[in-house]
Amino acid sequence: MKPFVIDSNGPPRPADKYDAPRYMADKSTVGFHVMIKPAGSACNLNCTYCFYLSKATLPNGPGLRNMSDETLELLIRSYIRDVTASDVVFTWQGGEPTLRGLDFFRKAVALQKKYAKPGQEILNDLQTNGTLIDEQWCRFLKKNDFLVGLSIDGPESLHDAFRKTKDGLPTFHKVLRAAGLLRRFGVPFNTLTSVNRMNAAYPLEVYRFLRKELGSTQIQFSPVVEPKGFELAAPRWKEGFPLPGKDERRARPQLPLPRAEGVLRACTAGSGENCCRSEAAADQEESVGLNPCR
Ligand code: SF4
Repeated sequence: MKPFVIDSNGPPRPADKYDAPRYMADKSTVGFHVMIKPAGSACNLNCTYCFYLSKATLPNGPGLRNMSDETLELLIRSYIRDVTASDVVFTWQGGEPTLRGLDFFRKAVALQKKYAKPGQEILNDLQTNGTLIDEQWCRFLKKNDFLVGLSIDGPESLHDAFRKTKDGLPTFHKVLRAAGLLRRFGVPFNTLTSVNRMNAAYPLEVYRFLRKELGSTQIQFSPVVEPKGFELAAPRWKEGFPLPGKDERRARPQLPLPRAEGVLRACTAGSGENCCRSEAAADQEESVGLNPCR
């Protein structure tokens, strides 16, 4: 007989694959990863290639609703309960999660301490566009051992080509300031670069900027996949683009192709290794329960 799940509200329902950790918890060590979007798809920027802003109006989509205190506590309690591996990783994403302000994150850390199981390490990642990061944020992030992912697309002209405010203003200098503050306060950070039609033509410049000027120790690349404006923003590969030589790379940058293939597979076959439907990941917003990717 198939197991049933009783959620905090609603009638019992048949368990699906996202409930698996709950049933495996007493049989083996379970590690899984939830991406949390406490501000839904709300963001203070309006990047040309953003795939997420437009999802605000989807039925049952992320909306612009903030995660309530009740959902936050339910999420933290059940996530910590169901992960039986030694680490529980909270990944705060958006939209722009810093829009929720420091008090929200203070509450989250306090709840993590309340529900932490003995011997388990609670880790926090924060993916941010960096524009709201100030000294107060840095003090909090350092004190609570957050790892920050900073979104930046390369040197000024490449970054500002697509990453703009709602008023169409450039954001590069704000992100650069955030990187400087994170370094000054000793907050570890890595970078996430959206590979697009502009910066894909300058791989060496982007790589050197991230490594040498910004001081990023872990560099992630993610291809632009938003269909709206795809022909303007999506990356294009050209034979002969220069790549960093062996002598100057300590970590080989990940090229976007395998990821792009994964995204395509997810769109066409319904599942890919980068896809939440691969059962490796899920996300949590206020509007609905656990979601596969959108
Ligand atoms: S910062 Fe991220 S969420 Fe905000 S508009 Fe840009 S791509 Fe979208």
